[in-house]
Amino acid sequence: MTRDYPRIVVPPPGPKATAIVDRQNRWSSTSYPKEYPLAIARGERAMVEDVDGNRYLDFMAGIAVASTGYGHPRVVQAIQEAAGKFLHICGSDFYFESFAALCERLAQLAPGKSKKRVFLSNSGTEAVDGAIKLARHSTGRPAIVAFTGAFHGRTYGGLSLTASKSIQRAGFAPFLPEVYHVPYGNRYHCDFCRTEPACTMRCVSSIEDDLFAKRLDPKSVAAIFVEPIQGEGGYVVPPPGYLQALRELCDRHGILLVCDEVQCGVGRTGKMWACEHEGIEPDVLLAAKGLGSGMPIGAIVAKESIMKWQPGAHGSTFGGNPVCCAAALATLDVVERELLPNVPRLGERLLAGAKRLQDKYATIGDVRGRGLMIGIEFVKDRATHEPAPEVPHDLVERAFRKGLLLLGAGKSALRLAPPLVVDEYDVDTALRIIDECLREMTD
Ligand code: PLP
Repeated sequence: MTRDYPRIVVPPPGPKATAIVDRQNRWSSTSYPKEYPLAIARGERAMVEDVDGNRYLDFMAGIAVASTGYGHPRVVQAIQEAAGKFLHICGSDFYFESFAALCERLAQLAPGKSKKRVFLSNSGTEAVDGAIKLARHSTGRPAIVAFTGAFHGRTYGGLSLTASKSIQRAGFAPFLPEVYHVPYGNRYHCDFCRTEPACTMRCVSSIEDDLFAKRLDPKSVAAIFVEPIQGEGGYVVPPPGYLQALRELCDRHGILLVCDEVQCGVGRTGKMWACEHEGIEPDVLLAAKGLGSGMPIGAIVAKESIMKWQPGAHGSTFGGNPVCCAAALATLDVVERELLPNVPRLGERLLAGAKRLQDKYATIGDVRGRGLMIGIEFVKDRATHEPAPEVPHDLVERAFRKGLLLLGAGKSALRLAPPLVVDEYDVDTALRIIDECLREMTD
């Protein structure tokens, strides 16, 4: 099958991209991390075209956001129709159908039997902040437990729970009080049982044996916030039974389990929600990113028994904007009916291809993932697992110049998170280009 991408017609950044990059760098905040000089003009499915006419295959989906790809006709039509009717009324104070429909839809899609209620936000970090408030409000307890390697956003609540890269926190203290970080279930780097033949799940039991026994009364803990698969931390899949163990721990102490599915939710892992792989029901589930296919919308989906705060306790001017609600409803339709059935098959193909690369290149220490959320970790030494951050950095740069959009994650991992519309051709093309880059780098 032939495609008109990847297609590099001028080495990026071309002249038009360079002009935009220079202009943006001159006027925008210096805090933006910026990955590489991609200046997008348009996109279609999993293809992104830059302003100089270069066409790229996108394997990062604008940081796991473009779930339905670029310009999915059903999503675009829903947005256009909604925009033609009214742009705003404020769903916190008044009513409209798509707001009601989206709350109902998300409540019914959330795992577990208990009835849910939904709060709509503009972003992932706002959903996290709202969930911190909700957890404290509904339990009357102050403390929150989160994990090292976690990323929960950039506002003060989300940032207080984030422990992914210190640059994200440097200079911003003091953070929210009563936040405690414990090690995540990261078998590849586990301080408890990395060298043992099987996982001992000490990362979970130590929360009771160490944190609760010595430093923190569990009766003062409102919630444990966990990413079912750690995103920014390096696309880390915890060991089997991890979420179930956290669920049981929370139940023993009356603590809420909050699953932050901002990056791993909305079909990315082959199920609508990543925590479904472990069959657990979180007390609160958070979504954003892929939910609106790029339109800014997030959601706090909580058990009705928990979301009982009084009118006025929490709200948002823009949260659940009508155009974003329409985009989210269309996205959920497309993901559920059209894309989700293909994700496991394509994910297995991608994972198998990444494992073949691991057999070929000693620098690949670990390959992991679920569905179309795959992490490849690079190491200096397979025995010590010492990270090799320069490898994914160089690889991402090279791939960009060959027409493949990639992104790093964590200290030395590569994340593969394409739009869910990719097919076999796209998966094979991405693997071929990564192989080419690694070959060049080892030559
Ligand atoms: N939670 C997780 C798991 C994320 O991956 C992110 C963003 O990467 C956030 C929260 C913050 O989302 P946003 O950038 O929309 O505020």
